[in-house]
Amino acid sequence: MSSAHGSFGRTTPPTQRVLQAGEAIAALKGGATYPAMLLPYGNGRSYGDSCQNQDGLVVDMRSLDRIESFDPRTGLLVAQAGVQLAQIIDHAAPYGFFPAVVPGTKFVTLGGAIANDVHGKNHHRRGTFGCHVEAIELLRSDGKTYTCTRSSNARLLTATIGGMGLTGLILSATIRLMPVGSIDVVETVTPFGSLDAYFDRAEEADRDNEYAVAWIDQLAGGRAAGRGLLLTGNHAQRGQSVAPARAGGRSVPFQPPINVLNRPFLKAFNAAYRWSRSRNPAPQPASCEKFFFPLDGVRNWNRLYGPRGLFQHQSVIPLDAARHTVPVLLHAAREAGQGSFLTVLKRFGDLRSPGMISFPRPGYTLTLDFPNGGAATLALLSELDAITVAAGGGVNPYKDARMSAATFAATFPDWQRLENMRDPAFMSSFWSRTAMRLKLRDHAALKAAE
Ligand SMILES: Cc1cc2nc3c(=O)[nH]c(=O)nc-3n(C[C@H](O)[C@H](O)[C@H](O)COP(=O)(O)OP(=O)(O)OC[C@H]3O[C@@H](n4cnc5c(N)ncnc54)[C@H](O)[C@@H]3O)c2cc1C
Repeated sequence: MSSAHGSFGRTTPPTQRVLQAGEAIAALKGGATYPAMLLPYGNGRSYGDSCQNQDGLVVDMRSLDRIESFDPRTGLLVAQAGVQLAQIIDHAAPYGFFPAVVPGTKFVTLGGAIANDVHGKNHHRRGTFGCHVEAIELLRSDGKTYTCTRSSNARLLTATIGGMGLTGLILSATIRLMPVGSIDVVETVTPFGSLDAYFDRAEEADRDNEYAVAWIDQLAGGRAAGRGLLLTGNHAQRGQSVAPARAGGRSVPFQPPINVLNRPFLKAFNAAYRWSRSRNPAPQPASCEKFFFPLDGVRNWNRLYGPRGLFQHQSVIPLDAARHTVPVLLHAAREAGQGSFLTVLKRFGDLRSPGMISFPRPGYTLTLDFPNGGAATLALLSELDAITVAAGGGVNPYKDARMSAATFAATFPDWQRLENMRDPAFMSSFWSRTAMRLKLRDHAALKAAE
C-alpha cells in the first residue's frame, strides 16, 4: 500500500488505503477477495469524491502506462488504462491524429476519460469520449477479464462508459483518434455584451466550427451582466505536428494559507483577460496547449484556492430553458457574493453517448468554480442544484463533492441500470452517498408497503 490519494477539488479527505494496479490485478485474477470495497483511481483530476473511496481502497492504475499499438491508416490506438491523454497526443500527433474528444486537461488517464465519459469543446460534433471507444478489457472481481465491444459484452461496455469506475478495472482500451491537419487551432475570439447575444450566436458557432465555448465574466453585474467571449476554432492545416516538450513549466510550489483567487483579484483578472483577448478579432493561430489546456501550464494551480480547496458546479440546462435559467444561475452566484474564477458556458449537441448514464445531453452546460467558503458555499451550491433541477436539467456527478441523493436521482432517473451492472466488490464515496441512499430508501418503501 502507498500514500493517500486525493481529488482535484480537495474538499473531501483523500482515500488513505491505496493498492497498486499490479497488486490488485494479480489478486483479483488469483481469486482473492478483499475485506473492503475497491475503486480504480486514474490521475485524480475529478473534482469531488467520485474518485474517492473513504470506506475502502483505491487501486492506482497509473503504472499501466504503455501504448500497445497505433495504426496510422485507421487512427485506431490500443493502450493500457493508465496512459494519459498527454502521451496519446505525443504519440499520434506526428502521424496527423488527435483524440476526437479532449477535456480541459491532458493529465487524465485513458481509464478515467472512459469511466467519466468526458466531453470537450466539440461535443456538438463528436459527442463524448465514449463515442470513440471501440473496445475495452475489463477485469471484474469474479477474476475474469471481459473483452467488451459493441457486439460482445455490449452491456458491460455501455455500463463502463460513464460508469465512474464501478463496473471493474479497465485494463486497456481501443479508441479511434481523428485525423487533423495539425494539432494547433486557428482561433477566433468574439466578445459579446450579454447572454442573449451569446445565445443568438451559439448554434451558428457550433455549426461552423469544430470547437466552440464561451467564457463569462461572472462578476460583471448591472448592464454588463452576462458579458463574455466566444472562443471558436478549427484545427490549423499548417501547424505543429509534435506536442511541445513538457519539461519545466510554472508551478504553485506551496500551499498559500488563504484563497488567493478572491473577489478583488477576480474582478481585476476578468477585466484584464477580457481586454487582452478581445484586442484582435481576426482568426489567430493558437497552440494546442494554449487552446485546449491553458491551465495545465501551471502545475498545482488548484492550491491557489487555499487549504480548504474548491468546489466545481457543472449544470446542464435543456435547450428551451437555458435562456431563462443560465442568467438565474449566474445571478444567484453573484448575489451570494461568490466569485467564480472559471466560468464557462457551452452548448452540448444531440449526439447520444453509448454510456448507460452519461452527463452530457442536449442543452447548455454552465461550469462555475468556487473556493470552499464552508456553509455559505454549500448553501449556494444547493441553490444552484435546485434551480437546475427545476429547469429539467442535471448536475455533473464527477465534478461534485456534495450533491444530495435527490439531485442525483433527478439528474439520472435511470441510475438503477448502472447499479445493476456495478461490480459487487466496487464502490465509491460518491456512489455510497447518492445511489446507495436511494437504494436504501426504495428498499424501506417496499418493506413499508408489504
Ligand atoms: C483543469 C481541469 C479541466 C477539466 N476539464 C474537463 C472538461 O472539459 N470536460 C470533462 O468532461 N471533464 C473535465 N475535467 C474532469 C476530468 O476530465 C475528469 O474528471 C477525468 O475523468 C479525470 O480522469 P483521471 O484519469 O484523473 O481519473 P480520476 O479522477 O482518478 O477517476 C475518475 C473516474 O474514473 C474511474 N477510473 C479511473 N481509472 C479507471 C480504470 N482504469 N478503470 C475503471 N475506472 C477507472 C475512477 O474510479 C473514477 O470514478 C477537468 C478536470 C480538470 C482538473
